Amino acid sequence: MAKGATRKRIETARKGKAAKGALPQWSTAEIEEAFRRLKAANPEPKGELQHVNPYTLLVAVVLSAQATDAGVNKATPALFAAADTPARMVALGEERVRELVKTIGLFRTKAKNVIALSQRLIAEHGGQVPHDRVALEALPGVGRKTANVVLNIAFGEPTIAVDTHIFRVGNRTGLATGKTPFEVETKLEAVVPPAYKRHAHHWLILHGRYVCIARRPLCETCVIADLCKWPGKTVSE
Ligand code: SF4
Repeated sequence: MAKGATRKRIETARKGKAAKGALPQWSTAEIEEAFRRLKAANPEPKGELQHVNPYTLLVAVVLSAQATDAGVNKATPALFAAADTPARMVALGEERVRELVKTIGLFRTKAKNVIALSQRLIAEHGGQVPHDRVALEALPGVGRKTANVVLNIAFGEPTIAVDTHIFRVGNRTGLATGKTPFEVETKLEAVVPPAYKRHAHHWLILHGRYVCIARRPLCETCVIADLCKWPGKTVSE
């Protein structure tokens, strides 16, 4: 068989394995090194959703489901200027909220949830965002990912919110493979060194959003390219 055909077969087999999650394991030293480099490139990473307090962060995250942060950020300045507390949001009313967020996907359901969660915060938490996962996940429109973002950004907890970017980066690189966001989150929880946990979520999201992008990852400018286990990466080690 020609050399080229053999190489192609090997490559296809490697990609097939990767698709089934059979990537080589990262060593502890490699994971440490990856986060050391991500931190060196961006020592104080920040979330990109605009907010002015924990409550507006919570609302922004609820609005960001299946939407881009940039899209949410276009709508929220006017919304938060009109209402930056649960009481003001309830006073503003669902119809007006719907009008202000109508450029965001699923805006009708989201407007309804924003009002309902604001009412719950007033009734059950003194108008404050609870520093408690169970209480957060009990709010309308709030799931595990939203709770993780709020716990991390508003309360400084070392939680890792697995969104579409982190899910892709974890699976593609082999750092944390899994069929569900929760599986990837659990694996990241287990492998991310404690010193990097607080900001791991931001580093991985930003890496996925701007470098390890879905269609064609920018491997040639990637700071962890030599560590990455993806057989399809476009740089050699
Ligand atoms: S080398 Fe490519 S595939 Fe691997 S993490 Fe970097 S950008 Fe993503």
